[in-house]
Amino acid sequence: MAKRRAVDKRRVKRLARERMDLLFGLAREVFASEPELARRYVSLARRIGSRCNVRLTAGDKLCICRDCNAFLVPGVNCRVRTHARRVVVSCLDCGGVRRVPVTRERRGKLNKALLVNTG
Ligand SMILES: [Zn+2]
Repeated sequence: MAKRRAVDKRRVKRLARERMDLLFGLAREVFASEPELARRYVSLARRIGSRCNVRLTAGDKLCICRDCNAFLVPGVNCRVRTHARRVVVSCLDCGGVRRVPVTRERRGKLNKALLVNTG
């Protein structure tokens, strides 16, 4: 029987990261003309990430819909609002909602900004 070669996990993860970045770039590019293709790219990137245990970047996470894999662009196919100290991103394709808490640091900065603006 042939000897099994050890899998270099770092290499696998680096490749996965590279491919995911590429797919996200493509999704961004084609979204305006072919949103369905962008959705396909997003779902491929997510699948690569889950197979290789590589997370999406925080920025990428915000611009996709977890429920329908849509690539989200505010004002086009998603709504961004703040509510109860959270940023609420709603997908207008499927109605999926993602709530991101505003962190303590951020809140501090916002509070300072409010103080400065209101005297
Ligand atoms: Zn959706």
